[in-house]
Amino acid sequence: MTQHSDLFDRACKVIPGGVNSPVRAFRSVGGTPPFIERALGPRLWDTEGHCYIDYVGSWGPAILGHADPDVVAAVQAAAARGLSFGAPTVAEIEMAEALVERFPSMDQVRLVSSGTEATMSAIRLARGYTGRDRIIKFDGCYHGHSDSLLVKSGSGMLTFGNPSSAGVPPEFVQHTLVLGYNDLAAVEAAFAHHPEDIACIIVEPLAGNMNFVRPVPGFLEGLRSLCSSHGTVLIFDEVMTGLRVGPQGMQGLSGVRPDLTTLAKIIGGGMPVGAFGGHAAIMASIAPLGPVYQAGTLSGNPVAMAAGLATLRKLQQPGFYEALQGQTQKLVQGLEAAARRHGVPFCADSEGGMFGLFFQAERPRNLAEVSAGDAEAFKRFFHGMLGHGIYLAPSAFEASFVSACHDDEVLDTTISAAEQVFATL
Ligand SMILES: *Cc1c(COP(=O)(O)O)cnc(C)c1O
Repeated sequence: MTQHSDLFDRACKVIPGGVNSPVRAFRSVGGTPPFIERALGPRLWDTEGHCYIDYVGSWGPAILGHADPDVVAAVQAAAARGLSFGAPTVAEIEMAEALVERFPSMDQVRLVSSGTEATMSAIRLARGYTGRDRIIKFDGCYHGHSDSLLVKSGSGMLTFGNPSSAGVPPEFVQHTLVLGYNDLAAVEAAFAHHPEDIACIIVEPLAGNMNFVRPVPGFLEGLRSLCSSHGTVLIFDEVMTGLRVGPQGMQGLSGVRPDLTTLAKIIGGGMPVGAFGGHAAIMASIAPLGPVYQAGTLSGNPVAMAAGLATLRKLQQPGFYEALQGQTQKLVQGLEAAARRHGVPFCADSEGGMFGLFFQAERPRNLAEVSAGDAEAFKRFFHGMLGHGIYLAPSAFEASFVSACHDDEVLDTTISAAEQVFATL
């Protein structure tokens, strides 16, 4: 048994901030993060011997719960055949076929090793294909940490953005226009200003990186028709929502077909995988067929393919998503009812196996509204729940996830913990 504080001190000496991805450091909620030793099904165990019910699910991939026996067996078998070849394999064809079959908007797909790589490459492809430089993204949507996407809105609505990270030269983001999520009028105005210059719009079709924000009716449809009439590539970043909100992601639920889609998280089953794909005509611009360069030493890695394929297979079980959605709704409704009993201003929302919790009376529609939530109440709730063995995302700006292993007993334990914590807020 090793104390988290000792481990965190040790980590901080050799890893900046002690973590390899910033949100893990618990900066927005305070305190020392637990160090995780193992996980099984819906639960995590830390190095101090505490057990938690997990609603982070490795930030999305763990839709089957942790250490699913079929996924682990597939990984073990693939590893025994060799870890990486840097040459074509059958598993890559099977993965590409599985994705193309599930997402009707994709004729072809290129496999990479992370969501960041997928979105960065999709944007380069959209620019190369259209011969245009400008792109539109929305405030509060996260598309990985590549330079041209680390940008916040400029001073005016139609001015191009400013870097949101040090180390990104302003020139690198001068082509990125940042607009408000769900603000179709702003997108129309941008096209009126730059009718033939916009290479692509990239959007989370249901935003999960500013907590949980749905597209308002007409928003995705409006983006689709503006992109079609201006020769602009519409990119749905479904790294989080693809296979999480339903078998065909948000494009399946909304009926809106993007030109390109980015995927990651669930399709790797817990191993590092990303993908981007779309119309064959656009995909033909990628090297070695076309002039847009993109590559990766470990792309299509055989062990990662095995984990992803085993995961995708299990998602096809009849009724899988109905059951997942039902459990998630039950959780969210239970939490809302518990908050109501204690007079805490709170609401929640979910789709498929993804949900958001808000310490405010109304569900937010954009980043400004999410930011108006009671951050202090969230912090107290987060730590209260952690103390009761419930591990939620350590930030009020992240969605949380339910897996196929979150059974009624797990949900009831969570809701009664919340009941006690709401009573103290
Ligand atoms: C997680 C995420 C990414 C980045 O993926 P990484 O694998 O962390 O690089 C990109 N887009 C969305 C919508 C995400 O949720």
